[in-house]
Amino acid sequence: MLTDSTRSPGDATVGKSALAEIFHSDGAHFLKNYTMTTGVEMVTKVVNIPETADAVEIFIFDSAGKEIFYGTLEKLWEFPSLLCLVYDITSEKSFKSCAKWLERARAAAHGMQLPGVLIGNKTDLAERRAVEFKEAQEWAMKQGLDYFETSAKEMDNYGAPFHKLAHSFHQMYQERVELIQSIM
Ligand code: GDP
Ligand code: MG
Repeated sequence: MLTDSTRSPGDATVGKSALAEIFHSDGAHFLKNYTMTTGVEMVTKVVNIPETADAVEIFIFDSAGKEIFYGTLEKLWEFPSLLCLVYDITSEKSFKSCAKWLERARAAAHGMQLPGVLIGNKTDLAERRAVEFKEAQEWAMKQGLDYFETSAKEMDNYGAPFHKLAHSFHQMYQERVELIQSIM
């Protein structure tokens, strides 16, 4: 089993904790009451990689997204291997913040490869959508991120971004193994 750690930055209230929780519980728990995460929480989950005998254990570090906790975050972000960036499709501001979060995550990666996904959450609030799918997808592509839209509330599509992350990690691992074998 391969192990990796995923950082999940994003503004407050976009649904980071809700997504981490339903992915972790396979759709059993949706956090209905808003509680500001104080600091960093971690959940783990094993994802099987299709067509291989491998599984990737994902450690999700759910950050509070508050500047006051930034000192704590920096320490935990020391060796990120994957990035899961989340915004709320009804909040233009949360989308704009993604550039800042991405920059911070990349800085924490110290030039190491950091595959990642961008998640537009809260698709159940379609009538309040403030960011178009295409706009977000184009921005994500330019940043080398895969784009997904989810609704943690409706439990819609929540597994897809995490499976993509597990797959990216597996691929990165395979490439490293091949590289090591080629120089031995
Ligand atoms: P975080 O601050 O990014 O961790 O956000 P939370 O996971 O704590 O969610 C903030 C609020 O948004 C909570 O009241 C959640 O119930 C709500 N929420 C989270 N995901 C969704 C979603 O997909 N749709 C809707 N309508 N509300 C959501
Ligand atoms: Mg939270």
